Amino acid sequence: MGSVHCEHCTGHCCKYLALPLETPETFRDFGDMRWYLMHKGVTIFVEEGEWYVQLTTACRHLLPDNLCGIYDTRPQICREYKAGDCDYIDGDYGYDQLFTHVDQLEAYARKTLKKRRQRQRKRISRNGPGKTLPDQRQAG
Ligand code: SF4
Ligand code: SF4
Repeated sequence: MGSVHCEHCTGHCCKYLALPLETPETFRDFGDMRWYLMHKGVTIFVEEGEWYVQLTTACRHLLPDNLCGIYDTRPQICREYKAGDCDYIDGDYGYDQLFTHVDQLEAYARKTLKKRRQRQRKRISRNGPGKTLPDQRQAG
């Protein structure tokens, strides 16, 4: 925090944390994410192709007036955060995908994994299941 914009904001960027996730590729991967979404205050989003889990939880150092209580010793990640790029300023969270509920994630998983299986079947019907590529034959 620290720009003129922050004076009109309620410290939005200090009220959650987002952690990167591996891109899900199997039902098992989606199953773990499903469990995350069963918890209150948890969402999952995809931004520029990267997956994140977001936990809505305010920093302990956010003061009642929405200023930072440890401004001089705040973590580097807080120092590097740019008010001009933040969600409050552009109002566009820029998500490729946003999942706030298990049902949304399950529908997405069914759709994307089905497409993936169809692509795999097409590849197999084109190449044959046991067909090896030239570089694989030479390996070893
Ligand atoms: S969300 Fe943006 S405007 Fe609000 S406090 Fe954080 S950096 Fe400032
Ligand atoms: S340390 Fe300060 S700037 Fe960083 S999240 Fe907490 S209140 Fe916000």
